[in-house]
Amino acid sequence: MSQSLVTMSYIAATILFILSLSGLSHQETARRGNYYGMAGMAIAIIATALSDAVNAYVILILALLVGGAIGAKAALRVEMTQMPELVAIMHSLVGLAAVLVGYANFMDTGASLSGVEKTIHETEIYIGVLIGAVTFSGSVIAFGKLSGKINGKPVLIPLRHWLNLALLIFVIGLGQVFLEQAESGGGFWPLLIMTFIALAFGVHMVMAIGGADMPVVVSMLNSYSGWAAAATGFMLSNDLLIVTGALVGSSGAILSYIMCRAMNRNFISVIAGGFGTGSSGEAAAVEGDVYPIEAEETAQMLLAAKNIMIIPGYGMAVAQAQHTVNEITKLLRDKGKKVRFGIHPVAGRMPGHMNVLLAEAKVPYDIVYEMDEINEDFPNVDVTIVIGANDIVNPSALDDPNSPIAGMPVLECWKGGTTIALKRSMASGYAGVGNPLFVLENTRMLFGDANETMQAVLKALQH
Ligand code: NDP
Repeated sequence: MSQSLVTMSYIAATILFILSLSGLSHQETARRGNYYGMAGMAIAIIATALSDAVNAYVILILALLVGGAIGAKAALRVEMTQMPELVAIMHSLVGLAAVLVGYANFMDTGASLSGVEKTIHETEIYIGVLIGAVTFSGSVIAFGKLSGKINGKPVLIPLRHWLNLALLIFVIGLGQVFLEQAESGGGFWPLLIMTFIALAFGVHMVMAIGGADMPVVVSMLNSYSGWAAAATGFMLSNDLLIVTGALVGSSGAILSYIMCRAMNRNFISVIAGGFGTGSSGEAAAVEGDVYPIEAEETAQMLLAAKNIMIIPGYGMAVAQAQHTVNEITKLLRDKGKKVRFGIHPVAGRMPGHMNVLLAEAKVPYDIVYEMDEINEDFPNVDVTIVIGANDIVNPSALDDPNSPIAGMPVLECWKGGTTIALKRSMASGYAGVGNPLFVLENTRMLFGDANETMQAVLKALQH
């Protein structure tokens, strides 16, 4: 394929990627956004495979088959609740690819660059390997934390900020040594030492971040994986990879900013780690009586209510209760009730988690509201059903300065008539803090797996 045709294909793919991103920003257009993304990726792969830069077709086809088969198998097998872990491990692969491409470029003796061009290429290699290694090890730790294989509590090394600063200065100095040695064909050792430092830094950075701040880490690693891809693009002189990487990198950075704002966190503090753990006191223990309720009584309360709010959380994803929830919603709306959904930006285990589940169950988009849109309205709500949510409805975030989630805005359902909370036990949520909502006088606990209890409520409503 001629170079100009490749360039045109790359421009077409870039436009499709931009359309894809803008489509994905609204539920109504998300499906179309996905199709644009798929079309863009197909064009990108075909144009790259047919370009003059590629001649090892057997290896390429083998790699496509093996990679495609692994990806398809993982996507088919993964449960909805494991999606965040899958995303984290995918990010780690982008980081690993950047490291490997960096080393391959470094060892490639075929390149005939000289002077400034050579220095620029070596700088690209150094920065590409650096970002790739941080992304790789950070994502592996994030995978461990999200899947519960690694404890979610922050690991805080004394003087960690100074340590990070010292490592950064050392890595910059090492970069200088690398460039000097690379002039005369060397540079392997500085590159290798930097790689190990970057790997250790990625581990340290994510280990230092506490459970409740993990959403920011997930979106931040998403952003890093984009920059790693862009760095790979520079190393391979592939314009499309640079543009695509920059798109992912900057959209991930914007998402991290949105997540930070949603959690009332300072971005730099979250990245530096240990945010919210510096308070001197202990978070207040939760004491009080719990008022359990049964499905039958829940149904009666719903039938007596006019204005109903549903707050889904991670437990709804675990129980896969979204379809039953949709059935109940339909039934209540047919009876003339006002039913709305309140979505917290960090509900579940990945950005947009609840929206995806509700869309899958075909809950109408126009009754699904963001936290900011409906939080003021709780005093008008008669009954709120909290389905497997915990941290996002925890009043201690607002009134206990020692709580690890202190300062995070939450859905203030306790200001409404009655809250019915569905969960299996009195266990705490992801952030590991007790929740006083569950012992308030106007809260009722409906214990059990959320799908089973919701089905029992549906049955009671149908009679
Ligand atoms: P939480 O993890 O705070 O609470 C979920 C609750 O669901 C648990 O208390 C659990 O209680 C209950 N539950 C689990 N399984 C079931 C089931 N089968 N049936 C009924 N209940 C069930 O979730 P939230 O959505 O409230 O908050 C999200 C948390 O995750 C926040 O702390 C957020 O910072 C963090 N996080 C979010 C990410 C994101 O991007 N959205 C990424 C990483 C972390 P029990 O065991 O008693 O049933």
